[in-house]
Amino acid sequence: MSTIKRILVTGGAGFLGSHLCERLVERGHDVICLDNFFTSQKSNVAALLDRPNFELVRHDITLPIFLEVDEIYNLACPAAPGHYQYNPIKTLKTSVVGAINVLGMAKRCRAKVLQASTSEVYGDPEVHPQPESYRGAVNALGPRACYDEGKRAAETLFMDYHRMNRVNIRVVRIFNTYGPRMHPFDGRVVSNFIRQALAGDDLTLFGDGSQTRSFCYRDDLIDGVIRMMDGPDEFIGPVNLGNPDAVSMLDLAKMILDLTDSKSKIVQLPLPPDDPARRQPDITLACEKLGWEPTVLLRDGLQKTIAWFRSIDPKHYRPPTPNY
Ligand code: NAD
Ligand code: UDP
Repeated sequence: MSTIKRILVTGGAGFLGSHLCERLVERGHDVICLDNFFTSQKSNVAALLDRPNFELVRHDITLPIFLEVDEIYNLACPAAPGHYQYNPIKTLKTSVVGAINVLGMAKRCRAKVLQASTSEVYGDPEVHPQPESYRGAVNALGPRACYDEGKRAAETLFMDYHRMNRVNIRVVRIFNTYGPRMHPFDGRVVSNFIRQALAGDDLTLFGDGSQTRSFCYRDDLIDGVIRMMDGPDEFIGPVNLGNPDAVSMLDLAKMILDLTDSKSKIVQLPLPPDDPARRQPDITLACEKLGWEPTVLLRDGLQKTIAWFRSIDPKHYRPPTPNY
């Protein structure tokens, strides 16, 4: 039997999706990248366009689509708070209706389907670090709910299609991930601080900067995602994928100033509502079941990311398109 698979990556032109497409194309698979370019641009996959085993489809995953595939990685969803709060109703539809559409396709094609879920399903957690068994503390009514609750509902749909229809699923809960090709205006902390430091602008620290996050370099993350898809059918997840090394936002700001040799100042702005105070993955399950753990240190990953930000012209990147 051929080991070459027909693989659909929804959200395939995005930050993580484009790297995933690259890795799958390199392995010789027949890759379809589906995207509506809400938070991305074709330049992310430009280098793949003349590869015979790569195809780009402009499509919105909230609308049905018929394709014949063996595997689906469902990544389509705005991921940065500024992007997902831009049109919260659309964000919720993308997670929920998008999940129904990819699960329907997987059921029809008997394809394996992986959901890119998130640490946001834990909300503002009271348990540290967060194991998969923790049920989370999400505010269903707040500004982050369109994303958090959409991803939670998508996990529910994946489990129900699996139980009812025997769809072969995988669920990964991705923690904060960074690296080259992050959208420079996505408002995430790593992209904001690097862009600001390189431009000599003030670094916008929200709150007193004592809140922590654990940042995973994109290569480590993509490695974990592919391992999960290729792993045994008995292990469907959810599984946490992230780097357990936590850092405060103040220390991150100082580290980026140091690495960019920037004279920018750090200024404090109000903390956004429902901003989680701490977030750190417990990756015991990923280590045990997938033999996976991150290898890239934050300083090294930031250096690569900074080098990429130096190489681009932010003028070529636009904020999300209205009317989506
Ligand atoms: P991204 O915004 O760069 O990528 C998302 C992609 O989905 C973009 O190309 C966007 O245009 C596309 N998209 C959005 N709505 C769509 C729709 N309705 N139809 C088709 N395409 C659509 O973000 P990313 O960081 O690459 O995130 C990818 C996935 O991983 C998302 O599902 C996100 O929730 C998840 N995730 C990412 C992180 C992280 O830190 N990067 C953390 C947790 C979860
Ligand atoms: N943050 C910040 N300055 C910024 C952007 C974000 O201090 O310019 C903080 C934000 O309040 C949060 C953390 O950095 O505590 C991570 O934010 P991000 O939007 O990257 O991701 P989140 O984990 O909140 O989804």
